[in-house]
Amino acid sequence: MINLIETDRPEATWELGRRLGEQAVKGQVICLNGDLGVGKTVFTQGFADGLGINEPVSSPTFTILQIYEAGRLPLYHFDVYRIGDAEEMEEIGYEDYFFGGGVCLIEWASLIEEILPEQAVRITIEKDLEKGFDYRRITIDGLEER
Ligand code: ADP
Ligand code: MG
Repeated sequence: MINLIETDRPEATWELGRRLGEQAVKGQVICLNGDLGVGKTVFTQGFADGLGINEPVSSPTFTILQIYEAGRLPLYHFDVYRIGDAEEMEEIGYEDYFFGGGVCLIEWASLIEEILPEQAVRITIEKDLEKGFDYRRITIDGLEER
């Protein structure tokens, strides 16, 4: 099932993230795709809040993986923008996270397409400048309604 959501300000994207964070289940892998500056991290910050994580969440650009343990479920926040190839994910031991006891959010997931689990949720965020600078079209594919 594919869902389409349109937002007109960062708070609305954050709120969507928060709602999905509240509904998140163990073992979920959520892929976030979209160009630099579309709001993947804003979404993630809302998602973390929905999980009950109070620490500030930023893009783990230089570490690839940031782990937050303080919420209802552990959050494994990946930003694979700077990754060379999927082999680097092996070195991190990604399988422990993808198939572990928490939730994975992966910014730039399309760069590691070959190792993404088939049942992963796909979220794509796009701008449309004709609809305004803060407009975002967000498509969610593969999320079961709860
Ligand atoms: P990414 O992680 O995709 O590179 P960020 O989340 O770091 O992007 O940044 C998104 C930027 O776009 C922020 O500065 C945010 O305030 C701005 N923005 C404007 N409109 C929106 C919107 N509707 N949803 C999300 N972010 C928005
Ligand atoms: Mg980001």
